[in-house]
Amino acid sequence: MKVAVYPGSFDPITNGHLDIIKRSSRVFDKVLVGVLVNPDKKGLFTIDERVDIIKRVVLPYDNVSVKSFNGLLVDFMRENNSNVMIRGLRSVADFEYELQTSLMNKKLDPGIETVFMMTSSEFSFLSSSSIKQVAFLGGCIKGLVPDEIISDVAKKVKSIK
Ligand code: ADP
Repeated sequence: MKVAVYPGSFDPITNGHLDIIKRSSRVFDKVLVGVLVNPDKKGLFTIDERVDIIKRVVLPYDNVSVKSFNGLLVDFMRENNSNVMIRGLRSVADFEYELQTSLMNKKLDPGIETVFMMTSSEFSFLSSSSIKQVAFLGGCIKGLVPDEIISDVAKKVKSIK
């Protein structure tokens, strides 16, 4: 049973993330979406809210599950019997960061492999931060995040404004 972990902040999950999850679920036996708890970064959504939102979105995919994690990703992977991590690549800018991170993870645990999946062209411009910016400025986020979470983002933005 090959379990792949897809880690990230997912604040909020975008159609770009969901595309990577769907495609990975066809390649691996199980995909575990790992929502990183980063105490230094205050997000739009709390960690529990992000986990709940992603769980709703991945409901149609039987082999996809969602958990949050603290601390080192390699430890989270070991605890979940995974030695493969998935990362998405949008641009050369992603590459620089991802190369460094994957080499660090390899140093921490040589048994771990990072598998990179190229973004689909229609989602290559999407990031959680640009979506938050658009939502805060009152722009339409349809097509950028899964339809079922548009109202969650709108509600959250309204509650903060
Ligand atoms: P992080 O904060 O660790 O970058 P993100 O939640 O922003 O986490 O992203 C998680 C992963 O998803 C990263 O590998 C990132 O490159 C990838 N990703 C983000 N947006 C897209 C997209 N539009 N298409 C493909 N991959 C993406």
